[in-house]
Amino acid sequence: MKRLNFTLDDDAVSLLESLADRYYQGNKSRTVRAALESLASHAGHDGWVITGYSPVRLEEEAACHSCGIEYREGDVLFRPVFERGASPDALDHIPSESWLDCPTCAEERPTA
Ligand SMILES: [Zn+2]
Repeated sequence: MKRLNFTLDDDAVSLLESLADRYYQGNKSRTVRAALESLASHAGHDGWVITGYSPVRLEEEAACHSCGIEYREGDVLFRPVFERGASPDALDHIPSESWLDCPTCAEERPTA
């Protein structure tokens, strides 16, 4: 254990106090630790992340890459746009297979 000394503005102090009271019986150290762990898990690792989608009208049957449901010619699916970034879902390589997501999966996926 190590004692740290740092400065927070008034808003951050009152946020810390209310979170500590609500979730950790007023223990600010445990609250800061939980906040850091949450930040680390959301920031994730560097790689390729989906930053958006472009709509594609199917010219033949295709299945959603994520849920596997099949869609027919004329239906609209969404092709992901990859960019470098950090995320828990970041991929080490841009996928080479064709990747189309259905509207439901595209909406549920958190974009970076
Ligand atoms: Zn889907």
